[in-house]
Amino acid sequence: MTTEYPTSLQPEMPATRWGDPAYATGLPDGVRDLVSLVFPIADRPAREDVTVPAPRLGDEQIAGLRGIVGDDHVVLDDATRRRRTRGKSTPDLLRQRSGDLSDAPDVVVRPASHDEVVAVLGYAQEQRIAVVPFGGGTAVTGGLVADLASGDLTGMLSLDLGRMRGLLGIDTVSSTATLEPGLRGPEAEALLAAHGLMLGHFPQSFEYATIGGFAATRSSGQSSAGYGRFDKMVVALRVATPAGEVRLGASPSNASGPDLREIFLGSEGAFGVITEVTVRVRPLPEVKEYEGWRWSSFAAGADAMRALAQSDLLPTVLRLSDENETMINLADPSGIGGEGNAGCLMITGYEGTPAAVAAKKAAVTAALTELGGTPAGSEPGEAWAHGRFNAPYLRDSLLDNGVLVETLETVTFWSNRENLYTRVKTALEETLGEGTLVLCHVSHVYATGCSLYFTVAAPGGEDPLAKWLPAKAAACEAIVAAGASITHHHAVGTDHKPYLTAEIGEVGVDVLRAVKRAVDPAGILNPGVLIP
Ligand SMILES: Cc1cc2nc3c(=O)[nH]c(=O)nc-3n(C[C@H](O)[C@H](O)[C@H](O)COP(=O)(O)OP(=O)(O)OC[C@H]3O[C@@H](n4cnc5c(N)ncnc54)[C@H](O)[C@@H]3O)c2cc1C
Repeated sequence: MTTEYPTSLQPEMPATRWGDPAYATGLPDGVRDLVSLVFPIADRPAREDVTVPAPRLGDEQIAGLRGIVGDDHVVLDDATRRRRTRGKSTPDLLRQRSGDLSDAPDVVVRPASHDEVVAVLGYAQEQRIAVVPFGGGTAVTGGLVADLASGDLTGMLSLDLGRMRGLLGIDTVSSTATLEPGLRGPEAEALLAAHGLMLGHFPQSFEYATIGGFAATRSSGQSSAGYGRFDKMVVALRVATPAGEVRLGASPSNASGPDLREIFLGSEGAFGVITEVTVRVRPLPEVKEYEGWRWSSFAAGADAMRALAQSDLLPTVLRLSDENETMINLADPSGIGGEGNAGCLMITGYEGTPAAVAAKKAAVTAALTELGGTPAGSEPGEAWAHGRFNAPYLRDSLLDNGVLVETLETVTFWSNRENLYTRVKTALEETLGEGTLVLCHVSHVYATGCSLYFTVAAPGGEDPLAKWLPAKAAACEAIVAAGASITHHHAVGTDHKPYLTAEIGEVGVDVLRAVKRAVDPAGILNPGVLIP
């Protein structure tokens, strides 16, 4: 049995970078040489001599919060407040690097239990303090920024859920486990593994993102073809709202009116603080096998994925890179331009019992061969599995060297895939101009459609943020024009909010506003996030 992901708790991330500082090794020389052939290289170190704005909350308010969670868990030091400022999108990192801490929370509050969360919400409502739930801080769509101007709020507290990281219970008969929201991905898997169980949710942010964050953003992981997206794993929720507690999921499924779990899944902290998540669990896989397939074109590979999805023949992992992404191969950039990087690379992965893996692999192999794929052996699959969490470190190294890198994602029906791909790619290339490289892969599949995940690299110039924002807007407008969804798994946050009405309509937005009024009448929870 192998685990290719870390099971120990990673150290806290620096404010200006992703991940464990020990892995921040810079661009390897060979890769730096290759990058310099395409992009002008320039030293762009992050500013460290930065002042965090003075807290807006008064001494009495701080004392009130200390009375709820204890003195040690009301944290005001600059370094902690800086680390709790925004998330980890490229614009977030660029703002941190340039020393812009205008969105810093006034204070970081660390509750230990559901009851402490309830008490903090009550106090914040009374004092008119904005509350921004903070899980792993890996948000990439501006979900950790409070708009204080939208109400007469006196300040903002970051509600850090990092002390709520327990496994509250397991029901082995029903195959469910109840987890606290602050557990990061590897911790949750390690707790379940001690019982021979797993969750199976592996987003690229797995090492840092949390159970509560997965639920609040409706996250989707790299093994979604086999294990499903996170919201489909959730069977029950406990949520603390300013209006009171909400407990949902008394049974696996029911006809008791609309399923209110769906209201809180994807609510991005705007409707309540998720304090318990009960998830469906499954036995740890005994075998994991990953392999590669080559396709003559992106369209041919995507058609094959569709055929698998529509015949209920999905492996555990299924992803397909377009020609550019195959050429660059983020799992092993040293091979750029090599012969092995031609066409389009598909990764298939199988996990389960030896018998189940053998049977699924044989059936998928027969189908992909019939559809015109060429097997590329286990090496590309194992390389992908080995490097699956590394790309964010590469992003930091490229930003250090003056290269602008960012990702975005969307989802549509199969019949619209080509149109969406072309529109978004063209919008990015035209806005960012010469020297732009747009890579794409099909990251998640359904019987009816798929998600497209774009990675963009361009010369950063003097002000990479000013360069990126119009490109992101153009990509969002292209997504709307194509009739696709503004996000498949990164959520709405503040960045995608201007495009939500086009997708769900004015009445849909009114429904969200009505829910917000019911659960958070004073508007203290994540003001400005999600709801247009
Ligand atoms: C490098 C990188 C790779 C990524 N890869 C993926 C991927 O493969 N798949 C994917 O789906 N996403 C991915 N993301 C996006 C991000 O990791 C997810 O949105 C993740 O689910 C956020 O979890 P978190 O614990 O970090 O939440 P945070 O960033 O702390 O919060 C996200 C939002 O949820 C709210 N929130 C957090 N916890 C709670 C809670 N307990 N109750 C109520 N609201 C809460 C916050 O207020 C905020 O609005 C990636 C991000 C990065 C930076």
